[in-house]
Amino acid sequence: MRRSILRRLCARRFRAPPNHPVNYDASNVFARILRREIPARLLHEDHQCVAFADVAPQAPVHFLVIPKRAIARLADADESDKALLGHLLWAAAEVAKKLGIANDGFRVVINNGSNAGQSVFHLHVHVLAGRSFGWPPG
Ligand code: AMP
Repeated sequence: MRRSILRRLCARRFRAPPNHPVNYDASNVFARILRREIPARLLHEDHQCVAFADVAPQAPVHFLVIPKRAIARLADADESDKALLGHLLWAAAEVAKKLGIANDGFRVVINNGSNAGQSVFHLHVHVLAGRSFGWPPG
C-alpha cells in the first residue's frame, strides 16, 4: 500500500512538463533566464529565441543564442525543429551584424554533450568575435 503511494508520488514529481523532453531539466540557468528569474544582457528577442551576452566571455565579443523551446542538446532536436535550428543561425548572424562584427569574422560553436564541453543543458549557439581563432579547436 505504502509502496504504491510512493510510486504514484514519484511518477507525479518526475513527469516532464508539456513539450519538455524527458531529459530536459527546467532548473537550468538558461531556462531561468527565459523565465526572467535571473538577469541577462539581452541583445535580441523574438518569438522563437533570445540572444544575450555570455557571462564569462572567451573573446572580446561572446554571446549566446538560445531557443525559447526546451531542447537540452542539439541532438535532442527533432524533425519539427528544423526551421527553429535555421532561425537560431539567422538570429546569430543578425546580432553579429548589429554589433558590427559580421565583416571581420566570427565563430559559431555548438557544444553537444559533456565530452564536447556542454555545461548548460539548454541548446545554445555561441558566437565569438574580436580576436583570431585557432583551428582545429581545442
Ligand atoms: P557550454 O559550456 O557550451 O554549455 O556553454 C555554457 C555557457 O553559458 C558558458 O560560456 C558560460 O559562460 C555561459 N553562462 C553560464 N551562466 C550564464 C549566465 N547566467 N548568463 C550568461 N551566460 C552564462
